[in-house]
Amino acid sequence: MPFKLYNSLSRRVEAFEPADGETVRMYSCGPTVYNYVHIGNLRTFAFQDILRRHLRQCGWNLQHAMNITDVDDKIIAGAQREGVPIGEFTAKYVEAFFEDCRLLRLERPETVPAATAHVPQMIRLVQGIQQAGHTYQNGGSTYFRIASWKEYGKLSRLDASGIKAGARVDADEYAKEDARDFVLWKAAREGEPCWESPYGPGRPGWHLECSAMAMAYLGETFDIHTGGVDLQFPHHENEIAQSESATGKPFARFWVHSEHLLVDGQKMAKSLGNFHTLRDLTRRGYSPAAIRYLLVSTPHRKQLNFTMDGLLGAAAAIERLRNFARRVEGAAGGPASAEWSAACARARTQFVAALDDDLNTAGALGAVFEFVRSANSAMDRGAFGAGNGAEARGLLAAFDAVFDVLRPSESARVSAEEIETLIRERAAARKAREFARADAIRDGLAKRGVALRDTPGGTQWHYAD
Ligand code: AMP
Ligand code: ZN
Repeated sequence: MPFKLYNSLSRRVEAFEPADGETVRMYSCGPTVYNYVHIGNLRTFAFQDILRRHLRQCGWNLQHAMNITDVDDKIIAGAQREGVPIGEFTAKYVEAFFEDCRLLRLERPETVPAATAHVPQMIRLVQGIQQAGHTYQNGGSTYFRIASWKEYGKLSRLDASGIKAGARVDADEYAKEDARDFVLWKAAREGEPCWESPYGPGRPGWHLECSAMAMAYLGETFDIHTGGVDLQFPHHENEIAQSESATGKPFARFWVHSEHLLVDGQKMAKSLGNFHTLRDLTRRGYSPAAIRYLLVSTPHRKQLNFTMDGLLGAAAAIERLRNFARRVEGAAGGPASAEWSAACARARTQFVAALDDDLNTAGALGAVFEFVRSANSAMDRGAFGAGNGAEARGLLAAFDAVFDVLRPSESARVSAEEIETLIRERAAARKAREFARADAIRDGLAKRGVALRDTPGGTQWHYAD
């Protein structure tokens, strides 16, 4: 069965294969590194990871690029607040993002380009758009004139007259002819980082960054572009306008958008203050594997309401699978039964078919759990032989190649509660001048993968590599 994927551009589920039949060229909008990402952002990145892994299971190679937006208004404001250059300000959030990805087992895309390292490509793209006749300048900034690009709106299909400045549209601050127009190159302002360009000193607009980096690494036309639904308009609409007006060619063939993570029916967002970061949750003892499982167990086109109960349910689901894996591992001899060979093959077919069906992760998990439930009771009856064990292990391996939750999480080595208790014991030991004991606690934690750091505000800890 071919892999079918919902394409926001056609609004249809379509059979997918890479244009060259071999390598999937894919672009994902990455994080803006002015803060820690929250698990809502991570739901989108986790969906992309499932997509990557399934594409590979389909037999294709991957050429996946995900940008890091390392210059924008919030970054500049944050760096000014701290009195450091933007590169220094963003570095810690870039590192934290990669750490979160590592803990959630999100594979690193083949290319992770930083916007500030691709300004010449962005300037060349503005020149292409200018030559095609879609730019104008005002107040030192250069804009895209929407009215001159007839195909504008084909992705979001918003009625042009109703398009208002959205949250990420740079409204008001810069002079525009039309509220829908968007900035390509922003004039430099006093005290802000800027680059020289034929359009005067300034910096690239956010939309421009993605178009330029996607085409730099994937070509003028590539296979899949992903992002959260909130990026469809205006960000992705603007990416299409910039890229296609300059090249005269289609930009991305498939646009794939993932739905939001909600809290009490509202989008998890920094601005609403209703968010959790991965580090908040792991410090409270939740394992990254459970968080990964929760984020990916609902198919990407459905909203997912985040609750602590859901997280506990995810942890319990993983435990069931791990117990089954241990049971299969330890299954004692006995011949394979044809019935169980067939059941295992059926589960595997259903698992793949569900993922082929627009990444129906819930269906894929259903197939695995149905098998685990009936295989467990067959084992209880002694009807499941060692011959079947190998097949069951094959099913679990196929499952884990995509879901990747069977290995214990690193941070599960020692719980947050235990660490906090040991830190308190160590503090008490030091106070009582029992330094050997204090050091032993520290060394013991280090051996178990937990690093302590003493600061004037108290002892901090983190899971080391
Ligand atoms: P940002 O750093 O704000 O550009 O967001 C990075 C990615 O996270 C984008 O693809 C957003 O669409 C996505 N995103 C933001 N909030 C959520 C949420 N609550 N649920 C899922 N994805 C989100
Ligand atoms: Zn983007």
